[in-house]
Amino acid sequence: MAVVELQSLSKRFGEAAAVDDLTLTIEHGSLCCLLGPSGCGKTTTLRLVAGFMDPDGGTIRVGGRIVSEPGRSLPPERRRMSMIFQSYALWPHMTIAGNVEYGLKLRRLDRAERERRVAAILDVAHLTELARRYPHELSGGQQQRAALARALVVEPETLLLDEPLSNLDANLREEMRFEIRRLHDTYKYTTIYVTHDQAEAMTTADTIVVMNLGRVEQVGSPEDIYQRPRSEFVARFIGGTNIFRGRRIGGDLVDCGALVLRCGAGEPAAGEETAVSVRLHDIAFVEGDVATGADRQPNEAAARVVRQAYLGSYRDYLVALEDGQQVRVTAPLGVNVPVGGVVRLRFPPEHCRALAS
Ligand code: ATP
Repeated sequence: MAVVELQSLSKRFGEAAAVDDLTLTIEHGSLCCLLGPSGCGKTTTLRLVAGFMDPDGGTIRVGGRIVSEPGRSLPPERRRMSMIFQSYALWPHMTIAGNVEYGLKLRRLDRAERERRVAAILDVAHLTELARRYPHELSGGQQQRAALARALVVEPETLLLDEPLSNLDANLREEMRFEIRRLHDTYKYTTIYVTHDQAEAMTTADTIVVMNLGRVEQVGSPEDIYQRPRSEFVARFIGGTNIFRGRRIGGDLVDCGALVLRCGAGEPAAGEETAVSVRLHDIAFVEGDVATGADRQPNEAAARVVRQAYLGSYRDYLVALEDGQQVRVTAPLGVNVPVGGVVRLRFPPEHCRALAS
């Protein structure tokens, strides 16, 4: 186990920077998710750490030991890492026990020690009953657990996971998130986990690194990233939100057209123009009239329902403010206003978050 430190890491493909001056520390024994949209550089970062490609610039240290720096790079097999790919890459001609044992044979461990370690990891991964089967005789989730067992049995310093659940169906994916977290809690290997799925990141990670255009956008715990996004990109990418653009008119007030928002949270952008994020479920439908025009009150607005959808446990509304700005709001089932109906909305200041960029 070891702390992984990336310092000013860069990788270009032609003109485009896939990883752009990325600096990041992944704490010893923690599970860190690299999360971001397709093409933001997650997999490239992971491959640089694994040693499958060399960076154009920057340094990678594992446990204080330099594994990559300009002009010098350790090959993957000397980095004490295990990597799991989307495809699992189990050897089809070997049983599950054989697959798991293989890495220990390469390391020339004696037979008794190999058997002991294989039995222990198969037990933890709930695979003991399936040890004599071949990969094609296993379900996708079982194959994924076998791939995890094979990666863990060699006791790597660092575990690298590249979208490990993307080949599984939705139900199994959900179950396997908890499984990965359970195995992490058992072994505590420093883990870097690449995903574009925010629920997967929030379930498994100690720390989420949100990436955008090859750079780090924000680093924090799942709660931090969700509750305290610093940029419009993070607020939109994690959890979905309404973004209102406006002008600061003193104190914590932002004029957003039909709506003036007192922002009880966040850090406004440096200039006069700023953006405010308000989550869908934080906006409330209220009874009574709303003053408009010059008499309007902060954090209140009238709106007309444009669209409404019943989603089982709540309703999802799209409403338009007086000036045409559209807002998405979720409401309890009891709030049932037809399309065209007028509603009154309240935007609680403590949930109005001014964004730094
Ligand atoms: P995804 O979630 O779709 O896998 P990602 O965030 O992992 O995306 P990367 O695979 O790291 O993104 O790619 C980052 C950028 O680098 C993309 O624009 C991609 O097209 C480009 N890229 C990646 N590998 C290569 C390559 N071998 N040659 C040229 N361009 C590449």
